[in-house]
Amino acid sequence: MKNNSNHILVIIFLLFFQLQGNSQNTDCGTDYIHNYRMQTDALYRNQLLILESQIEAKPQNQENIQSKSTLYNIPVVVHVIHIGETIGTGTNISDLQIQQAITGLNNRFRNVSGNGVDVEVEFCLASIDPSGNATSGINRVNGTSISNYQTNGITPTGNPCVGGLETAVKDLSRWPTSDYYNIWVVSEICNGSFVGYASYPVGGLYDGLVIVSTSMTSNSGTLPHEMGHGFFLYHTFNGDGGNVNCPLDNDCSVDGDHVCDTPPHKQGDCGLTNPCTALGVWDNSRYNYMAYCPLVNRFTQGQKDRIRATAVIAPRASLLTSQGCGVSGTNEINSSNTILIFPNPAQNMIHVTVDAALIGTNFELYDPMGKVVLSGKLSSENSLIELSSLSGGIYLFKMDGDLKQPIMVIKE
Ligand SMILES: [Zn+2]
Repeated sequence: MKNNSNHILVIIFLLFFQLQGNSQNTDCGTDYIHNYRMQTDALYRNQLLILESQIEAKPQNQENIQSKSTLYNIPVVVHVIHIGETIGTGTNISDLQIQQAITGLNNRFRNVSGNGVDVEVEFCLASIDPSGNATSGINRVNGTSISNYQTNGITPTGNPCVGGLETAVKDLSRWPTSDYYNIWVVSEICNGSFVGYASYPVGGLYDGLVIVSTSMTSNSGTLPHEMGHGFFLYHTFNGDGGNVNCPLDNDCSVDGDHVCDTPPHKQGDCGLTNPCTALGVWDNSRYNYMAYCPLVNRFTQGQKDRIRATAVIAPRASLLTSQGCGVSGTNEINSSNTILIFPNPAQNMIHVTVDAALIGTNFELYDPMGKVVLSGKLSSENSLIELSSLSGGIYLFKMDGDLKQPIMVIKE
């Protein structure tokens, strides 16, 4: 990341020219939005740096903040932003195609027929909507009201291409990212320049992945690729300067893709040998879902560790306790089982909103070493907790009754 920051402009231009000259339309736009925000958005940059440091530090109490179950279930909602077709035609793909795409995504994360590891993460189409009503987990909206969407599809924020503004398109349909991982299925991205892109884990209104309708299929390599980005995986060729140089390889935990069992390479190198290094298991990179190579069939153990470390800290951790795939009427979102903590990430204070039945409940805040740094009682349905004495990092908010929520504290 720090290497990128020195050369962001160069990389953007190199990628721009390279991708413009690529007629295969198989590329991912994640780095565009990432590089743009790293340059222009200090809060975004700080959030990712803190997240990265937390993952690399492997906090001693990680066990405490992991769910008891080894299998993580992530509720997803799919928003189909079509261009006016009837359901099942053109970009307005059918429910069945979407369900099969999610099954395909799960098969790849569970390594059902691949050559990698079982990540032990599954994605479920939401069965409960944010109001507590039953849902198919699929929303459909005609996107033609957004300027340039019908002709060019969506424009990722920070990309110079002509298309519908990302925020305007996503505003047509989006669910709270704290309880659902949002997937937007679109007609095109930059008039065919990309097949997908995703946000690295930062939360907020627009966090999630975007994928073109033709790639939202059961055999798609794009969907697991973008979901990998959503859980903080970089490309296996991260740091190659747009296929220009071999990524730095001094310390595999912080160079390249920050994963040690995926040898660094250039994005165009997918052949029998890796010109960048003879070390490591080359197949782990050239057959990786996070490569641009033609045949992909695996996530590695190192990627699994990074995905799961990301899953248990903010902002993804709240997905693990979401009731989005629960049963209607028994586990409603916003029920008394749910505490609402915001903002998260926070700077100097957090609001904690609970059901009236939980007033008087004790709470504690643990630092990454497992030490209690704050404690008290929730005195009302909406309590304000001061964090100004804390330094930046990830804390665990814990309440009686075993409710737990990681809190990210950011200090400028
Ligand atoms: Zn990508």
